[in-house]
Amino acid sequence: MSTITAFRTHDVRFPTSTLLDGSDAMNPDPDYSAAYLRIVTDDDGPDGHGFVFTIGRGNDVQVAAVRLLEGMLVGREVESVLGDLGETWRRLVHDSQLRWLGPEKGVMHMAIGAVVTALWDLRAKRAGLPLWLLLSSLSPEELVDLVDFRYLTDALTPQDALDILRTALPGREERTATLLREGYPAYTTTPGWLGYDDAKLERLAAEAAAEGFRQIKLKVGSDLADDRRRLAIARRAVGDGVAIAVDANQRWGVDEAVEWVRALEDPTLAWVEEPTSPDDVLGHARIAREVAPIPVASGEHMGGRVMAKQFLQADAVQVLQIDATRVAGVNENIAMLLLAARFGVRVCPHAGGVGLCEAVQHLSMFDVVAVSGTLEGRMIEYVDHLHEHFAEPVVVRGGRYLAPSGPGAGTEMLAPSIAAYEVGTPR
Ligand SMILES: [Mg+2]
Repeated sequence: MSTITAFRTHDVRFPTSTLLDGSDAMNPDPDYSAAYLRIVTDDDGPDGHGFVFTIGRGNDVQVAAVRLLEGMLVGREVESVLGDLGETWRRLVHDSQLRWLGPEKGVMHMAIGAVVTALWDLRAKRAGLPLWLLLSSLSPEELVDLVDFRYLTDALTPQDALDILRTALPGREERTATLLREGYPAYTTTPGWLGYDDAKLERLAAEAAAEGFRQIKLKVGSDLADDRRRLAIARRAVGDGVAIAVDANQRWGVDEAVEWVRALEDPTLAWVEEPTSPDDVLGHARIAREVAPIPVASGEHMGGRVMAKQFLQADAVQVLQIDATRVAGVNENIAMLLLAARFGVRVCPHAGGVGLCEAVQHLSMFDVVAVSGTLEGRMIEYVDHLHEHFAEPVVVRGGRYLAPSGPGAGTEMLAPSIAAYEVGTPR
């Protein structure tokens, strides 16, 4: 038996704004950051690593929120915490006082996500498995126990979830073998940052196509003439065989979104992402109706599973973009994968940032093995920076994520990187 003894936290910030990596219409100067957590135990085994991705200022607030949860876990037996992560999730999320700060969204909820993910990292490391294979080895009943259905049953009951998971039982092994052999499709946003000039856009777009990516994404929404010109440059650079998605990062009002997308005059767009406020379900639904057949995508700022439920019920998104650190960790993302499967909507996760590719690939690979059972129309975002700071950096080859094989959730940052980019005092 071992015991959880401490949270070690770090405010880690990379100065990405100096190169305009990550620049878009709403976020012109992001410093990609992580509110980083290591859960320490009193045995000789591995620690559990998790984090919340932020883009700079406020990362200290996020770290403070993570620290607030330390008292709920320190002193508890590791085996009992890891043995019932559904119950652990509910205890963290339903703390009657902290819940006031959400409920179930925002800084406190994301802090719970870092803790929950660190616990899954610990469990996967103790099992000697990558998280996606650990999750894929759980029974439908064990997976359903991880999800809080209180606010979901009008759209997804535990029985619905069991039916989805049992339907996917046959073929789990075959799909696992396919992933190990062929990996999981990726698309890249690397060429499309708004701060890049036309020559850099053209060069990076051509390189992406040559590397084997079947889709790229461009940031839009600052200036319509610029967007039309950049879209034409990208189209020329990648040819007709590569899809192009656009991402407005919440820049528009609802009417403006419809007008702008129509003015791009490209019905072949792979999707339009975050056209307006991420909380505006009905606005997204109207945009989706009026820009059809172009699909609408959202999710990287979706506060949690209750928002996901409403977006799906309203047919407001045709592509759900789960994010590894926006919600309360692995358990809540399993709920969102189940909701997407229930509504027959494809999931193409948001990634990039700090460690988001490393983390979210486990959820997508678990999804294809044990939830949706399909790769149809699915791909994970890929951006090629900051991977070198992680213990298990993603490997993307020929436009596909190779299945990770190391034990854990992919969330462990290298100690020298933490030391080099930490601001403030470690605790
Ligand atoms: Mg986006």
